[in-house]
Amino acid sequence: MTAPSHPDPIPSAPQPAIRIGHGYDLHRLEPTADAAPPGPARPFILGTVLIPHDRGPVAHSDGDALLHAVTDALLGAIAHPDIGQLFPDTDPRNNAQDSRVFLAEALARVHALGYRPTNLDTTVICERPKLSPHKDTIRQALADLLQMPLDCVNMKGKTHEQVDAVGENRAIEAHAVVLLEKT
Ligand code: MG
Repeated sequence: MTAPSHPDPIPSAPQPAIRIGHGYDLHRLEPTADAAPPGPARPFILGTVLIPHDRGPVAHSDGDALLHAVTDALLGAIAHPDIGQLFPDTDPRNNAQDSRVFLAEALARVHALGYRPTNLDTTVICERPKLSPHKDTIRQALADLLQMPLDCVNMKGKTHEQVDAVGENRAIEAHAVVLLEKT
């Protein structure tokens, strides 16, 4: 194969002033307390907040679906490999890994390219537990992790109206959309 005879038509295209990223994650939920021998389900953790619940995410890492969605939104915005590529479940270092490690790596990549997150909106869908008592704590945790003001970070909670796996309390879903701006 020969080299192209002309240069890339946009070799020095300026980086866009803003970029947007979307992330999605789902984890199966299984009982935690009565698992004997210890089942695969982790304690129910969402946005770094441990929430008392009789079911938890089945995951290689700590199973924080919200942090995974936010991590993928950050990585997606800069067109980098996704969380599963950077932190494969075949790597024993990721076993029960704190998902803040994944988010920190994504944020470092965003910063290295000269961007910072300026707005984050998320939605978590699960039938139980009720998320409303924990929303403010989760929002604050996300704002702290991303070094963003609280009023630019949102977390919405929804149920799945008792239909399909999420509505039957067998799974949790999270969506995230993040806006990055050049620093
Ligand atoms: Mg995940």
